[in-house]
Amino acid sequence: SIQLAKRLDEVGFSDIVQIRNKVLELRASGQTVHAFHGGEPFFDTPETVKYAMMKALVENKTRYAPSSGIEPLREAIAKKLQMKNHIDAKTDDVIVTAGGAHALFVAFQALLNPGDDVLLFSPYWTPIRDMITGAEARALLVPTGPARRNGLTKTLEEFSTPHTKAIYYNTPQNPSGTVFTRSEAEEVAAFAKKRDLVVIADEAYEDLVYDGDHVSIASLPGMAERTISTYTFSKTYGMTGWRIGYAVAREPFMSGLRKLVLYSVNGVSTLTQWAALEALSIPQSAIDARRDEYRMRRDILVEGLNDAGLKCEIPAGAFYAFPEVTNLNKDSRKVASMLLDKAHVATIPGVVFGAQGEGHVRFGYAMPKEAIVTGLSAVKAYLKS
Ligand code: PLP
Repeated sequence: SIQLAKRLDEVGFSDIVQIRNKVLELRASGQTVHAFHGGEPFFDTPETVKYAMMKALVENKTRYAPSSGIEPLREAIAKKLQMKNHIDAKTDDVIVTAGGAHALFVAFQALLNPGDDVLLFSPYWTPIRDMITGAEARALLVPTGPARRNGLTKTLEEFSTPHTKAIYYNTPQNPSGTVFTRSEAEEVAAFAKKRDLVVIADEAYEDLVYDGDHVSIASLPGMAERTISTYTFSKTYGMTGWRIGYAVAREPFMSGLRKLVLYSVNGVSTLTQWAALEALSIPQSAIDARRDEYRMRRDILVEGLNDAGLKCEIPAGAFYAFPEVTNLNKDSRKVASMLLDKAHVATIPGVVFGAQGEGHVRFGYAMPKEAIVTGLSAVKAYLKS
């Protein structure tokens, strides 16, 4: 009989999808669901971006674009990377991808050989481990909390192997909301240079930092040449469905990324690229205003969860809270099913994000304020009963 490629044997298919399906089922049967399981902005795509797409359509910008992205967009991205991220990037160091996930996929595919190891702070965004495994490499899980307490350098030393080729560095982090400090970024950079490692820097949530600053690791001395940094229009601009992001990297990485983008999608939709160019002209003040809206939601949710008896630290970034739930049950899958079945509160069990996430559940708060408040009431009522 015909079999799939062996490299897919250990690759999972998102548990989160199963939860999403259960929510849809409950809703279809007329039930209200308090939807904390998601990870997409409640803001709509800005009007100016929508009109830019329509204009491009009317102007018949409907043909193949260069596979690495249209020149004006790559130029505008390079300028953004210089001004905002302080990364020394030229237009040719930029490639447009079908979202941040695609940028990460091609980065791992371009870099990894069977037998290579990748240091992965855990809990981690679930697809990352599957992408590493799918590239026939191995993820070395580095527990984030203990690593931050004991010092990143010492912990990275402890968990790395002679086969370690790269570090996946995600700040702000999904699911914990952790934001690494400048001195932590410097530690990771020093370690990468000492061990001659590549850093895959996932900056999907760069505009959602509430406490401290976002530091792009590729902006640190000697790091631009060993870092592949990935970005997305999804979270900052409310453009999850458009499927557009980008990566910045030098040679030899860029040649690999170009081949993989060419053969995976042959370039991102031309219309979407013109819309993304418009998004980049949105002033930072408007982006900051959205961030302040998220901060207010974070504060309501975290206070409410602590009131309800779930121990929750204040996450410094992204739009997730990651409370401890061991007082309800040690098994986070059981807690998430109880919350969903009994209180119609949808969350994601922490163990989905790696063993180090066990004992927690993830609440996303990228939702209307009223929905957070009513959802919290449901949590409180259930936990009291
Ligand atoms: N990186 C992290 C940590 C994420 O949480 C996500 C989305 O949830 C992404 C990257 C990629 O998002 P997209 O593929 O929509 O750009």
